[in-house]
Amino acid sequence: MSQLKAWRSAIIHCIADPKEVGVEQAYEYFEDGMLIVKDDKIQAIGHAADLLPTLDCDTLVEHHPDGLITPGFIDTHIHYPQTDMIGSYGEQLLTWLNTYTFPEEGKFHDKTHARDVADRFLKELLRNGTTTALVFGTVHKVSVDAFFEASEVHNLRMICGKVMMDRNAPDFLTDTPETSYQESKELIDTWHNKGRLHYAITPRFAPTSSDEQLKLAGKLLNEYDDVYMHTHLSENKDECAWVQDLFPESKNYLDVYDQHKLLSERSVFAHGIHLCDSEYHRLHETGSAIAFCPTSNLFIGSGLFKLNKAEEHKVNVGMGTDVGGGTSFSMLQTLNEAYKVIQLQNENLSPIKSLYLATLGGAKALRLEDKIGNLAVGTEADFVILDKKATPLLSSRLALSKGIEESLFVFMTLGDDRAIKATYSAGQCVHQR
Ligand SMILES: [Zn+2]
Repeated sequence: MSQLKAWRSAIIHCIADPKEVGVEQAYEYFEDGMLIVKDDKIQAIGHAADLLPTLDCDTLVEHHPDGLITPGFIDTHIHYPQTDMIGSYGEQLLTWLNTYTFPEEGKFHDKTHARDVADRFLKELLRNGTTTALVFGTVHKVSVDAFFEASEVHNLRMICGKVMMDRNAPDFLTDTPETSYQESKELIDTWHNKGRLHYAITPRFAPTSSDEQLKLAGKLLNEYDDVYMHTHLSENKDECAWVQDLFPESKNYLDVYDQHKLLSERSVFAHGIHLCDSEYHRLHETGSAIAFCPTSNLFIGSGLFKLNKAEEHKVNVGMGTDVGGGTSFSMLQTLNEAYKVIQLQNENLSPIKSLYLATLGGAKALRLEDKIGNLAVGTEADFVILDKKATPLLSSRLALSKGIEESLFVFMTLGDDRAIKATYSAGQCVHQR
């Protein structure tokens, strides 16, 4: 028996990149809207006045007069094993890894620990309205098993991979080129495309992989049509200098990955702050994407992401929280910081572009726009109900806003997990405040 359910509320979703079609053409907004879901997919979206008469009298309609429905948020770069080290003080990237990250990741050889953190991590994502994420595991194969098992419970569309790391890290966190290839392959065969799950081949970043390991990562990527590649790129200036020392043959940082055949339509590079024109060009040419992680870039003092450069070169961009370098699981707070990063470069990030980056833009970066990213008919029913009365300040400020774009901007500036009233994945409620 298929099941029909409807939600009546204000609804907004993006249908294109505002950079390409202009802000007005980039979104649909229904002030008194209706979303109809059949089983796990969107069956209809529109004005309540038009859709209400199409429903049988026994169809369940949930009414949220103070709500705003958006697509579920998409986080294109996050580390689940760093959940418990969020908010660690005082370091930039390379010392931060040694001081905080590596000791924490060492705990994930224990599957019970990994599963406990994975469960809490997913709960936190859902409390914040994030329904899909591209996620780092640790070097331990069991860390990925634990993550996917936890994701399956909620039927979430999630992407994860085992870290490949064979040098410049403590012994308890290193694998070898051969074991990393073999274990990644086994994980792909077990988990990739199982239900809503996907696998990402995940070298941590160039400095912690030998040439041989990167070569095998590239080989593995080319053995499958649709697995992902997920790594870091040009986050911090000392890191960039180190990469030049370690790989003297490479033209630039991206070229290290390029030489090892790691650029593809399903390759996502976190950060990409200090890039030259030829790197943007090559990212565009290969259909690779960048994850823009503003809270992390500010917190670890890495630098300001140049969204205009990525747009100029037509590089796909999604938003990333980069927890635990990032300081919030909330996509609303991540967009708040993104706005400030762009302000510091004397430009504006419009609320519609922000919504796009956190939803449809992220889906496009992950090549999943036919399944998630907006509320188009036939897509999977991953959505969020925001609450205009979540806090006294939100309530009073939103009462004064003069339209949906301003309201959206206020949500992104003042909103956080408290603003998320409910989160749905494939039509099922996975979080309710
Ligand atoms: Zn990261």
